[in-house]
Amino acid sequence: MADDEFQVGKAKVCLVQGDISEQDTDALVNAANSTLMGGGGVDGAIHRKGGPKILEECKRIRVTEWPDGLPTGKAVITSGGNLKARYVVHTVGPVWRSGTRGEPELLVEAYCNSLTLAASKGLKTIAFPSISTGAYSYPIEKASRIALKTVKEFLDKEDKLDKVVFVLFTSHDLEIYKKAAREII
Ligand code: ADP
Repeated sequence: MADDEFQVGKAKVCLVQGDISEQDTDALVNAANSTLMGGGGVDGAIHRKGGPKILEECKRIRVTEWPDGLPTGKAVITSGGNLKARYVVHTVGPVWRSGTRGEPELLVEAYCNSLTLAASKGLKTIAFPSISTGAYSYPIEKASRIALKTVKEFLDKEDKLDKVVFVLFTSHDLEIYKKAAREII
């Protein structure tokens, strides 16, 4: 198996460098903010490429389910609009402050709730960005370990998903994830 592909039960975990909004998995995960109204980084790329339908659905979710905003660690799902992916799972990662304000637990929740939501919709493949490691400043070495450990534990327990892809924006980030995956998976 290639050094960017790992087997967990019958599922594959793949690490690639690229733009998450270009992925053709069943679902993409958006590193959203609690407003669900778009933003920079991953959020900006997904809304730009996905078109207005995603934002309309996010607005409806705000009105009907989360009038005060989506809490950190929770996840919701919309269609993929014009993206290749059919669905977008929007989750809010924690903002890194000191590491002692529940950031690790909230990052686990963001991954876990996204995986659970996708599996409950019968989806088979999902792509994640490196949640919280951009504007939210979570140190990527720490975040990568939490991301991979959470995905591995989920796939060990649950056999509904066939493939989880981590899409890293830079070759540097990809190397950090590869190192963590070799240790954890
Ligand atoms: P957060 O607010 O959760 O930190 P960001 O979108 O600011 O989310 O960044 C999360 C990670 O995604 C960062 O490592 C950033 O470099 C990376 N990133 C930014 N744009 C993209 C993209 N289009 N595809 C994949 N990763 C991206």
